[in-house]
Amino acid sequence: MNGSERRRELLEWLGQAGFLSLAEIVTRFGVSKMTVHRDLEILEQRKALKRIHGGAAALESAPVASAEGDAAGEGCLICSRPANPHLHFTLLLRNGEQKTTCCPHCGVYACLVLGDQVGEAQTADYLTGRPHPVSESFFVLGSAAVPCCQPSMLTFDSEEMARRFQTGFGGVLGGFEFAVNFLKNSMAPHDHQSSGCPHCTGRLPEEPSTA
Ligand SMILES: [Zn+2]
Ligand SMILES: [Zn+2]
Repeated sequence: MNGSERRRELLEWLGQAGFLSLAEIVTRFGVSKMTVHRDLEILEQRKALKRIHGGAAALESAPVASAEGDAAGEGCLICSRPANPHLHFTLLLRNGEQKTTCCPHCGVYACLVLGDQVGEAQTADYLTGRPHPVSESFFVLGSAAVPCCQPSMLTFDSEEMARRFQTGFGGVLGGFEFAVNFLKNSMAPHDHQSSGCPHCTGRLPEEPSTA
């Protein structure tokens, strides 16, 4: 198989898989890491894929999230970073307001802080950008892929994709409740609301009055 055949096959495979780790690609084609790196570089230059830490992800032609008229230009509720369609997290508050965060990390954090004010929350699939309810999402926590806040929290609407991602990038897999506890545990154990995550300090939303 020559280089262009290999790259075509790689793209087809990536289209089905959603993302691939370097190790998977090396094993499948029996080529060196260097060769894979070069292939990915070439394909990225052609805008055929996106290189991510330790592998490659398929590009989504039309992310659904951006078609939803989300508050453009409004940064993360927690840390003010700009939102990315593949990391988009939306909170629909009971008072009708809609808030977005930069990534599921801040999204889960916002759910923790806002508590009962949150009526519903949606998160984007990291690979496709498809929004889906957090209650149905599969969270990969603390993996080696850190596109935004730390510890990394990425969401997937397919359990299989989440598992495959976890195989390549590590971390732990669980549902929303698990993610909430994971975040609590990654913060100071005695008082999570005043310590916050490293990216969120100083920008806390007001606490709900529990009177
Ligand atoms: Zn944020
Ligand atoms: Zn973030």
